[in-house]
Amino acid sequence: MIDGRAEVRGLPLYVPDAIANCVVDASDNTNMWGAPPAAVRAVAAAAASATIARYPSVYSEPLKDAILDYVGLKQAAVVTGCGSDDVLDSTMRAFGDSIAYSTPTFSMIPILARLNGLALHPVPLTNALDLDAERLVDCRARITYICAPNNPTATPASRAAVEYVVERAAGIVLIDEAYAEFAPETFTSLVADNERVVIARTFSKAFGLAGLRVGFGVGAPDVMRVIERARGPFKVSALAERAVLAALETSPDGLEWVRDRAARAIVNRTRLADSLATLGLPVLPSAATFVMAPTSRALVLASALRERGVLVRPFAGLPREIEVFARSGGEGLRIGVGPWEMMETLLSVLAEVV
Ligand SMILES: *Cc1c(COP(=O)(O)O)cnc(C)c1O
Repeated sequence: MIDGRAEVRGLPLYVPDAIANCVVDASDNTNMWGAPPAAVRAVAAAAASATIARYPSVYSEPLKDAILDYVGLKQAAVVTGCGSDDVLDSTMRAFGDSIAYSTPTFSMIPILARLNGLALHPVPLTNALDLDAERLVDCRARITYICAPNNPTATPASRAAVEYVVERAAGIVLIDEAYAEFAPETFTSLVADNERVVIARTFSKAFGLAGLRVGFGVGAPDVMRVIERARGPFKVSALAERAVLAALETSPDGLEWVRDRAARAIVNRTRLADSLATLGLPVLPSAATFVMAPTSRALVLASALRERGVLVRPFAGLPREIEVFARSGGEGLRIGVGPWEMMETLLSVLAEVV
C-alpha cells in the first residue's frame, strides 16, 4: 500500500555527478561562464523586498511578451514551466497516450513518458545521426519528440527530416531546442504555420539560470492553453521571473552577455573538438554547447578524470544499431564547452589519463 505506483517504483533516481573537490565541471551542459550579471542583481534586489512573501504571477504573464520578442514571433503563445522539463512533462500529460522519439536522446523523455503513462516508441537515429523521419512518423504516436540539437550526441537534425515529421506526424510534434542558442539554425519559426508544433526551450543552458528552473514552450494559442492547464498555477518562482526578465533585456549585462557567451562557446567548441581529436578522441559534429566522443573507454576515462577533479558525463548502452556506437561498444563521453582556461585544464588532465 505504501509502495506507490509500479511506474514510479521502477524509476531510477537522478544521480548528480557533483564531487567536493571539483576542478572543472563539464558534466551538465550548463553555462560554464556563470549567470548574466543583470539576472544576479535582479534576484538580489527581489529577495530584499516583500516579493517572496507573496505568490508569483499565476502563469508568468509578465514573461510572455518578453519571451515572444526573444524568439521573434508575434502570433504564437507561450507557456512557462519549472524548467523545460516541466513543459515537456505537461505536454505529455496534456496530449499523451504514446510518444515516438529518437534514441539516444534526452534521458528525461522515457522517464517523463512512463510517469505519465505513455506508450514508448524509441527509434534509433540513422547512421548519419539524423532523425529517421519515416520510422518516427510510422509510429502514429500522439506525440513525436524531436531533440534538435540532440542531447547527448550534440548533432543537429536536418531541416528536411524535421519538416517531413511536421507534415506527416499523427499528432503533436514536440521540438526540444534546449541548445538553440548554439545551433546554426532553429525550428522555432515552424510554429507560425503549424498548429501541431510545440517548441520547448530553456533558461538553463545559454542563459546560465539552471538553478532558478525556468523553461518555456511556444506554439499555437489553443495548444498552449491546454498545456498550461495540465501544468497548473505558480510553477515559476517570483525570483526566477525577475531574473529571466533581466536576462532578456537588451543590455551588456543581460541579453548581450548571453549572446556573447554563446558565441564564445561556439568558437571554443571547435577548438575543443580539434584538441580532442589530437588526443585520439574524435567527436561527433556538434551544434550544441557540448561535444560527444564515441569511445569504448568512456567509463574508464570518466572515472580517471573524476579522481583528478574533472567531471564529464560518460554514457554506456548507446544504441548499437547506429554504426558509431556499435564501434564504440555503446559508450561515449559527453563534455561541456566553457571558458578556454577551463578547457585547457580539462585537456591537460585528459592528456595524463588517455
Ligand atoms: C538540459 C535540457 C533540458 C532541460 O532543462 P531544464 O533545466 O529543465 O529547463 C531539456 N531538454 C534537453 C535536451 C536538455 O539537454
